Amino acid sequence: MSLREKLKALEELQQVDIELAEVKAEAEAVPRRRSEIEADVAVARKAWEAEQDRLAGIEREKRSQEQTVAAERDKVKKWEGRLAEIRTPREYAALSREIDIARKTNESVGEQTKLLTVQAEEVARSIEALQERLDEKESGAQEELEGLVLREAEFARRAVALNARRAELATRVEPAILQRYENIRKRRGGIAVTQVTGGTCRGCNRQIPPQMAIILVRANSIENCPNCNRIIYVPEAVSPATPPAA
Ligand SMILES: [Zn+2]
Repeated sequence: MSLREKLKALEELQQVDIELAEVKAEAEAVPRRRSEIEADVAVARKAWEAEQDRLAGIEREKRSQEQTVAAERDKVKKWEGRLAEIRTPREYAALSREIDIARKTNESVGEQTKLLTVQAEEVARSIEALQERLDEKESGAQEELEGLVLREAEFARRAVALNARRAELATRVEPAILQRYENIRKRRGGIAVTQVTGGTCRGCNRQIPPQMAIILVRANSIENCPNCNRIIYVPEAVSPATPPAA
């Protein structure tokens, strides 16, 4: 296999590795997105539950007030019965005052109960709106979660195809070159092979020496950028539009 073909294989290998890294990053983003979706639903559910608790509290308060009013009413009835048996005007006046106070208290508690009823209605409406929002969130979440399952399957399928292509490309270059490629890739942020265009290495954006540019045009050797050490090639030399005259 000619060096030009080896360079071509390295070029494609690099492309496959970039795609594999993308697929991996996308696949890794899935669990994060899943947590976000679940957290979003949890927030909506919490808001709905908090409002339910608030309504329960209001209802409890209302029942307690109603019990107080009922008890006071019984007391007033009993006292009114006793009024007839009272002999002294002083006692009569005292009990009448007690009855009066109890009645007023009942009236004011009754007013508070009415306010609570209005409040309970407001909270019930708010619960309805929150319930609607929660339902929307839940169905939206379910849809997206199902989509994520499909995407995960798609990523896995793509990774299998890319790895197969990678294994095939790896057979086209000798182990020593492959090892060199892997070492540079590890040290250089995943990019081991890069183009030279306009006399500039696209890996580090530095000019390459003119002498090296001449060598690269021949595509007859594997060269490294003197600055970033990546394997460099001139695209039109590696993949000429028309085959060069041999
Ligand atoms: Zn470079």
